Amino acid sequence: MCHTDVHFVKEGLAPYPLTPGHELAGVVTKVGRNVTKLRVGDAVAVGCMVDSCFGCRSCRAYEEQYCLNGAVWTYGGETKYGRAGPDGERTRGGYSDAFVANQRFCFKLPPESLPKTRGDEDASKTTDTKSSLAKYAPLLCAGVTTFDPLVRYGCLDGRKRVGVAGFGGLGMMATKLARAMRCDVVALSSSPDKEPAARRMGASEFWVTTDAEAMKEKAEAVKAQKLTHTKRDAAVYGWQHPDPPPAGSASDSDEATISDDRVSLDVILDTVSAPHDVAALVDLLAPDGTLVLLGLDARPFALAANALVFSRKVVRGSLIAGTKSTEACLEFCVKHGVFPDVRVIDAAKAADALKALDKKNDAAVRYVIDCETIPKRAKRSAAA
Ligand SMILES: [Zn+2]
Ligand SMILES: [Zn+2]
Repeated sequence: MCHTDVHFVKEGLAPYPLTPGHELAGVVTKVGRNVTKLRVGDAVAVGCMVDSCFGCRSCRAYEEQYCLNGAVWTYGGETKYGRAGPDGERTRGGYSDAFVANQRFCFKLPPESLPKTRGDEDASKTTDTKSSLAKYAPLLCAGVTTFDPLVRYGCLDGRKRVGVAGFGGLGMMATKLARAMRCDVVALSSSPDKEPAARRMGASEFWVTTDAEAMKEKAEAVKAQKLTHTKRDAAVYGWQHPDPPPAGSASDSDEATISDDRVSLDVILDTVSAPHDVAALVDLLAPDGTLVLLGLDARPFALAANALVFSRKVVRGSLIAGTKSTEACLEFCVKHGVFPDVRVIDAAKAADALKALDKKNDAAVRYVIDCETIPKRAKRSAAA
């Protein structure tokens, strides 16, 4: 379950009836004749989109989320390219017991994610069934949405100071991913209660954004800090300083770490989807730093040109990830064991979980619905 689901349900962003859910994991039960990527019995995941035009500049670069003709979202989207149902219908999402998608938008999961239920009819099977697939599902939205900008803005090599603003589902994944990339992570949240969870997931610092005094201090420290030349900085700027660094200085070492007294952040992933002080976050960026807006909020915010111009800072947006980047994300997460903290719930508890998400997700977990608990209609026709 994603915070987007709350927006759709509460704000009626798509016509009723609505079936939310765009982080799906399951097992393949049927494949079409032209399917080459998957076989019956494979574990599979589907994310936030199920079709796009395949022909535009974005689609040809496997960035289907930016399809110039409009991607078809997994739920509440209008079908128009024929691969997600007949044209002119509305897509239905993952809170369902069966799902059909084009193979381009399906991602094979490793065999260890498969539910271990083969023939075992004992009571212990349910836990396994739930936990094995459940931790993969949230990678398809929360995971890829934070992985893609981290890679794109240079965090994969580590040694960056990454700020993560907002500590919900996206913030948790951003923290785990940036840490797995060996970056230094600063969690920024309005809820001081989330500090233990943030630290457990890899944040080395936790800044409370509602503590105006403390935030002002940080911004002033950023302004006052003298950035000495290091190899890391040289890499950031893409050039080498002509003077050799003083012998024996930290900058002389290839192992330049981020343990210096630097306060500023190279990249901030801003996952907050409510009105907040974006300018205050920009003040925390290092020169050439990038703030990436990931939360959806239609209301405008104020930002002075000076805040960007004097140190070439960038504010940009980013939306989920394309299919190639999604594959890279899954590969990275499996290799490094990066998975969200999940809580598997029965379908009957979905409304309660949406309410919890609408507050501040204080549980610091990603809720995952066990779709086997969706009541089956008597003798429904086979899902096709
Ligand atoms: Zn989502
Ligand atoms: Zn396209």
